[in-house]
Amino acid sequence: MLALDPSYVEEIIAHAREEAPNECCGIIAGKDGKPVKLFRARNSESSPYRYSVAPEDLFRIYRECEDNDWNFLAIYHSHTASEAYPSPTDVRLAFWPEAYYVLVSLLDPDRPVARALWLPRPNLKLAAAAWIYAGGAHHTSFSYSVTAEHLQDFADIAGIEFLLIDENTRVQEFKEKLRWNDLYYQLNRAL
Ligand SMILES: [Zn+2]
Repeated sequence: MLALDPSYVEEIIAHAREEAPNECCGIIAGKDGKPVKLFRARNSESSPYRYSVAPEDLFRIYRECEDNDWNFLAIYHSHTASEAYPSPTDVRLAFWPEAYYVLVSLLDPDRPVARALWLPRPNLKLAAAAWIYAGGAHHTSFSYSVTAEHLQDFADIAGIEFLLIDENTRVQEFKEKLRWNDLYYQLNRAL
């Protein structure tokens, strides 16, 4: 889970306010999953609806991170007139698969909202399709301690179906797997 000190959130909100009505953006560098430094970056789009980390800033930040053995822990940007949910463009442009995306919304200027998100693998469209084909289970939980392997072991022991949606998921294969699982289940019951 991304744990950000309130000081980081305050810094992002301050940055968002300074840049409003345009979106602000920046990068939080981290070491071993913990934030170490916040870098403001220039939004080369200078737009209230879009952001793009200016290449020269990206290069500068990347170099400093390399020198210090930090990584990009989070990429942040602001929404000045909409909620702290990613726009389709945000999802499309989320290039750093390992980074968190942090969004700050100034929709209600007195009560800014910050939200960290991570992105579904392999992407939102395919993950949602696979999830629906699998029956659209609606109980969710989140854990960094329990891995997919743990869950697979548990499913084997309990004799229940286990389906993994990850970066390798392809909808066609996934549908076939569901059919095979179903057949296996029917046969098992008949024996
Ligand atoms: Zn956005």
